[in-house]
Amino acid sequence: MSQPKKSLTGLTAAEITAAVGLKERYRGRQIFEWIIKGVRSFEEMKNLPAQLREQLETSFTLMSSTVEVSSSADDNTAKIAVRLNDGRLIEAVLLRDENDRATACLSCQIGCAMGCTFCRTGRMGLKRNLSSEEIVEQYFHLRSLYGEISNIVYMGMGEPFRNTDEVIRSVKFFTGADGLGMSERRITISTCGVVEGINKLSRENLQVRLAVSVVTADPVMRSEIMPVTKTNSLTDLKAALLNYQKHRGRRITLECAVIRGINDSSAAAAQLADWADGLNVNVNVIPWNPASEIDFQEPDPAGLEAFCRTLERKKIPNTRRFKRGRGLNAACGQLATELEKDG
Ligand code: SF4
Repeated sequence: MSQPKKSLTGLTAAEITAAVGLKERYRGRQIFEWIIKGVRSFEEMKNLPAQLREQLETSFTLMSSTVEVSSSADDNTAKIAVRLNDGRLIEAVLLRDENDRATACLSCQIGCAMGCTFCRTGRMGLKRNLSSEEIVEQYFHLRSLYGEISNIVYMGMGEPFRNTDEVIRSVKFFTGADGLGMSERRITISTCGVVEGINKLSRENLQVRLAVSVVTADPVMRSEIMPVTKTNSLTDLKAALLNYQKHRGRRITLECAVIRGINDSSAAAAQLADWADGLNVNVNVIPWNPASEIDFQEPDPAGLEAFCRTLERKKIPNTRRFKRGRGLNAACGQLATELEKDG
């Protein structure tokens, strides 16, 4: 079988110059400018000589992936299924807030090996890591379908710190002066608590935001529902977050999906608050989103209210998140491509 053509999307101008073997560096910059404008063919790159356009057409492609299905809901959430050039499917989501600010939620792996029991993606297992270019292409697909994007979160399928190098490469594409030049503060990397990755991010000179899906500070319960805890204990996780804050000085978001009978009591909220003591955090309290194949239940509203009140009493800032994207299975922990699930 012939090799698929290399995509130029996701490469900086210098990388395009090298990949195409161009003698004149400004040509690489011209190609890059066309790509970020969103052209769909090399033919449209009118300031390139015809011979170069032909060479590009023969040996390269503008996108290695295609949008298979896109669906949008009334609540400003849209989900796309993206077919990669090896035939696999991934999902990406666009969320629009009340100020009309659009956030792209990108996948970094096909499936996920972390096995969180409340997560649909976790049920797929890991198929493979995505390259930086495959991550970046999701952004361009969302942008061409739904318009300008102001923020990016790595909260789609996969654990970013199990694919750290490619995730950081993609962040550098989005933020670099030779890439899209976005503010690093508009990018959030979300982890289930992989200490090694947090430590690596502490050493990088990047001002991206960090979110940690902590869910519960009960070590026994957390080991049960988030197996990562067995090798990355809550004690080590807290030490890594303190170290991150020492180096980067940024407030950390703690994501807390609240599940009935698992972590929805006031005692669980108090335990979480005690664990977070000494950290500069905001807790995102998210009612867990039901998924047909997962035997958990969403919390009742009164329990959720009491949970937030306990955090407040303990002086832990928190934000109650409301249900979005449910109709599309695009809510937190619900991304799992139907065709890949059992594959
Ligand atoms: S919650 Fe995140 S880390 Fe856990 S299984 Fe799902 S995608 Fe993986």
